[in-house]
Amino acid sequence: LKEMNARSVWHPMAHPADCQANPPTIVTGASGVRIRDIDGHEVVDAVGGLWNVNLGFSSDPIKAAITAQMERLPYYSIFRGTTNDTVIQLAEELRDFFEPDGLSRAFYTSGGSDSVETALRLARQYHQVRGEAGRTKFLSLKKGYHGTHFGGASVNGNANFRSAYEPLLAGCHHIPAPYTYRNPFDETDPKRLAQLCLSMLEDEIAMQGAGSIAAFIMEPILGAGGVIPPHESFMPGVREICTRHGILLIADEVITAFGRTGSWSGSRHWGVQPDLMCTAKAITNGYFPFGAVMIAEHVAQVFEQDETGKANIGHGYTYSGHPVGAAAALACLEETIRLDVPTNAAARGAQLFNGLQALQQKYELIGDVRGGHGLMCALELVSDRAAKTPIDKATIGKVQDGAYQAGAMVRMSGANLIMSPPLVLTETDVDTILTALDAGFASAS
Ligand code: PMP
Repeated sequence: LKEMNARSVWHPMAHPADCQANPPTIVTGASGVRIRDIDGHEVVDAVGGLWNVNLGFSSDPIKAAITAQMERLPYYSIFRGTTNDTVIQLAEELRDFFEPDGLSRAFYTSGGSDSVETALRLARQYHQVRGEAGRTKFLSLKKGYHGTHFGGASVNGNANFRSAYEPLLAGCHHIPAPYTYRNPFDETDPKRLAQLCLSMLEDEIAMQGAGSIAAFIMEPILGAGGVIPPHESFMPGVREICTRHGILLIADEVITAFGRTGSWSGSRHWGVQPDLMCTAKAITNGYFPFGAVMIAEHVAQVFEQDETGKANIGHGYTYSGHPVGAAAALACLEETIRLDVPTNAAARGAQLFNGLQALQQKYELIGDVRGGHGLMCALELVSDRAAKTPIDKATIGKVQDGAYQAGAMVRMSGANLIMSPPLVLTETDVDTILTALDAGFASAS
């Protein structure tokens, strides 16, 4: 398999030569919160698949729902004139679930990048229909991650995800993220930093012209950029600025929706109602590719009351509203609510965060510990703590490998080790992750 992998598989996010030199772990099984590799080694999956397996790998209700849907109606499109009963039922459930977020309609997609692309398109079209076709630009946060399509790549904050694909969408501008550990203002107080970033947003809007901006897109807690929770004043501040300037606020909740932050959604975590919300990942617990853009009633009304013809939707995917994905999502929602996963995410998240802070006392390599909002945590590694010198890739790889050998899969992202385990893990599972990390650091120090 390792030879065939090197010969035939072009892996995302990895140079082909790297795959040959360091063959990826071949995962052959998973149950509960654990994965098993081809050599029979079993570890706690502290990555939760890819931030998505919130309910673990053994959810019988989801598997049963998928199987039953496969038997009854495996596929039918919801394009022009047809739909299916499962997606209708799901939309009603999502409407209830996201009611406190002010979101009432679901536009179905096949995953996170599709959800972002859809939200960006809907934002432009919304302004066109309202007679403000000049609103075409998008603002976003440096260090934000919004997927791989050309629209999403254009609003991605990390230049590494943009530079190879330029020229991208015109009129996308990135403002500093409220990243306390490193920022252009050398500001270490999260509240003051949030204020500074908000004033940068005001400046950017003034520079671009408020009437030229369609939307601001942000993750409530930056995920792939290294788990960066903002001060609690930040997202409400963004909401206020967007409302004042007629700019739509898109919450990219591909990671944060459905309990990961310890709240039912990331926007609710900060007490904000977005205009559009991108979801995917945990909507089906990783069991089926699926997503939904949730739309606020006032945005939906603009489309529905349009008499100009500009609201004709020339947008959708073959797999929009896939009945099997919808069946999986229905079962996931039910399980998420039944198990009250945000409560466990908050408790186990606090345990993990405290344990990581204790590890920082022990290992000089740990420059910053981030988390404290459910089960999203990161360690930023440095070779010199005082100078905050970013660590080299080989050392971070050693920590990751050491942790894996000692019982936990963690993910490397730049100079960060990321943790986003299933939200159903136990106190003992968190201890296993911490013990494994301890061993990983010991082997690299
Ligand atoms: N937005 C965010 C916030 C994400 O974290 C991701 C994926 N990690 C995406 C969008 C893209 O999702 P997908 O990989 O399912 O296309």
